[in-house]
Amino acid sequence: MLNPDIDLSGQCAIVTGASRGIGAATARRLAKAGAKVTLLARSSNDIKALADEIGDNALAICCDVSSWPAIKQAVEKTLKRFGSLNILVNNAGVIDPVARIENADPAAWSQVVDINLQGPFYAVRAVLPAMAENGGVIVNVSSGAATNALEGWSHYCTTKAALFSLTQCVHKECADQGVRCVGISPGTVATDMQTVIKESGVNPVSQLDWSQHISPQIVGDAITWLCTDAARTYDGTDFSLKTAEGRAALGWVKV
Ligand code: NAP
Repeated sequence: MLNPDIDLSGQCAIVTGASRGIGAATARRLAKAGAKVTLLARSSNDIKALADEIGDNALAICCDVSSWPAIKQAVEKTLKRFGSLNILVNNAGVIDPVARIENADPAAWSQVVDINLQGPFYAVRAVLPAMAENGGVIVNVSSGAATNALEGWSHYCTTKAALFSLTQCVHKECADQGVRCVGISPGTVATDMQTVIKESGVNPVSQLDWSQHISPQIVGDAITWLCTDAARTYDGTDFSLKTAEGRAALGWVKV
């Protein structure tokens, strides 16, 4: 574990997409740092099992992030259970179906916009009133695809680019209210999403060997570190785990 001494006791976090992959690893890591965590995802059995594993400091709420009423209710339930809210990790995201633009299904494309972009906006919108009172941190899980076009990923690239813009907009409007906002571009990570990408056979990312992906636990470590004051210098940017500078700042590698 990187930066094992991080202490987030007394803080409360919401992690979207906490049923597996990066979201589950992040929820576990935040809880290890002492934070209370609300786990959101559609797979209710998986988030309930993770909440049971974490214990009293975890709350599982079945929630589709593309629904404004569902997100609003999840934030209300979190405040009722834990009394405050300081951290939001906008992690839920999808990449399927991978398709070139001429073959893309318009409804499926829009559904990705609803999850990857509307969802994070809804969550930011819902947490800001509570965070504006006591301050807080919002971490948006971005991607190198925000700034690099890749064949078959028009839905994913455009939503991640827009999410980066949302990070910058939240930073501009909210930094002076004590609400930090930062993105993270993790590189490729060994999760179900990479299985979907590999099975598509489209673009160079699908050709990567599995050993080239980093573990979701490293990303959980990085997100937890981004929640601390030590990472303030990255506010309003996409912190990259692919660069030597980013890895060194996290304490992952020495430069
Ligand atoms: P994953 O293993 O497929 O997990 C995706 C998570 O998002 C699941 O917990 C899923 O839960 C949740 N989710 C999807 N749609 C949702 C919805 N409508 N409402 C609520 N939750 C929803 O993928 P991952 O790799 O951990 O991805 C997590 C984030 O990292 C994504 O934003 C992704 O774009 C980003 N990312 C991943 C990589 C990579 O290489 N893996 C690289 C860069 C960025 P349910 O299905 O249970 O709802």
